[in-house]
Amino acid sequence: MSSREKSTVVALATPVGIGGIAVVRVSGDLSLQIASQISGFPQNRFKNRYALFSPFLGPGGIEIDRGIITFFKGPNSYTGEDVLEISCHGGTVIPDQIIDACLHFGCQLAEPGEFTRRAFLNGKMDLSQAESVADVISAKTRLSKKFSYRILSGKFSELIHQLKDRLMNVVSQIEAELDFTDDEIDPVPKQQFIHMIDSVSNSGKDLMDTYKTGRLLMNGAIVSIIGKPNVGKSSLLNAMIDEERAIVTEIPGTTRDVIEVFYQIDEFPINFIDTAGLHSTDHPVELLGIEFSQRYITKSDLILWVFDINQPVNSILKDIKSPFFDAPFLPVLNKADLSEEITSWGDCLHQNGFDPTIVSAMNKTGLRSLKLKIKESLFSFDLSDQEILLTNSRHRNSLQDSLTSLRNARTLLSLDSDRALVAFEIRDALSHLDRILGVTTADDILDNIFSSFCVGK
Ligand code: GDP
Repeated sequence: MSSREKSTVVALATPVGIGGIAVVRVSGDLSLQIASQISGFPQNRFKNRYALFSPFLGPGGIEIDRGIITFFKGPNSYTGEDVLEISCHGGTVIPDQIIDACLHFGCQLAEPGEFTRRAFLNGKMDLSQAESVADVISAKTRLSKKFSYRILSGKFSELIHQLKDRLMNVVSQIEAELDFTDDEIDPVPKQQFIHMIDSVSNSGKDLMDTYKTGRLLMNGAIVSIIGKPNVGKSSLLNAMIDEERAIVTEIPGTTRDVIEVFYQIDEFPINFIDTAGLHSTDHPVELLGIEFSQRYITKSDLILWVFDINQPVNSILKDIKSPFFDAPFLPVLNKADLSEEITSWGDCLHQNGFDPTIVSAMNKTGLRSLKLKIKESLFSFDLSDQEILLTNSRHRNSLQDSLTSLRNARTLLSLDSDRALVAFEIRDALSHLDRILGVTTADDILDNIFSSFCVGK
């Protein structure tokens, strides 16, 4: 254990700013001593998990505030160590003074994610659960939180443990055959081993299939609104979110910067991006806006390609038949209130294999239908009976590596190769699953994971 891990750390556990109360958290061996120094009470006044009303005293016994100190005796605490939760008045000054007092009494300032890192190192949770703490806190919608919470509560880890158990069963049988002669144990037919490996691989692949949806639920899908100037992109954004976020004028080229707006469609998180109209221009500011837009288009999960319905249908068809980007798109025909050709133009696009949505941003028609199409295009995966989603790229990569090792094991088996090599590949698959749980994880990977947390988590 490093001296850092042995130290007692302190940080604000609640957000910085004005609020009724704030909670300062302390974790480590000095907790009880700090409780006594900051309150002026003897240590034996602090009973495990009891809230004690107390003054908070700074260096020299000067009273900073009064509030509640709750003592959690390790290992039955969040971090597994002795922990204090000091609930004081909120704002910036009082919590700062209490943290300063704790530092004066021997604490060190906690690093980002240090409380959760300690919880992981002390076996209170595995690494996938520790990572999901940040996801639960920063969840964008209730649906996103529901799936992160399932990871936090251990359901994802259970699934990984089940996969591991099934693989352990295979590898232990193979290794038993290596250790004993055919007279001592009945050899298992290779087809049976192949079947067992396929069954685990299929479960792993089913989980891999959930990743795209899981990632979109965690990060929010990027949906860019593109089209020529003045087709009504900003008006459409405002109409969809029912708020005036983007400037609307008759003057082409008004939207020069990229506007990003977070929105939920039935609990599915969406980041709408209103882009600058794409057209040829010499204006340096407009050019910059267009360059920015193109960058967003490249990283979009879906594009709403907006056209003015009063434009000739052939020019719309020409554009959408050869998109200049790779992302999937939905053609949107706007300004339906001005057109008498709506049905025939819609039909014409349908006949050419497109499914346009006809809207009027001005009259707010067709918007629900557009939102449903956005949701269905992005989140095609049926979540109704899906318990676990793969949401984290680190887990996805480890699972992918595990599946690769299983594929190698299967090939070796089918070629009647040395069973020791098969066992080696399965052990490798197991070690990749262990990486998900953090059974074997290098310090630099842990540093990388926990540095993305806030201080106090
Ligand atoms: P952008 O340049 O594509 O973002 O277009 P804007 O949203 O700024 O709109 C350009 C002009 O079209 C403005 O005068 C809007 O009022 C008008 N406009 C936008 N949507 C509609 C619509 O559905 N119907 C009508 N009649 N005008 C619209």
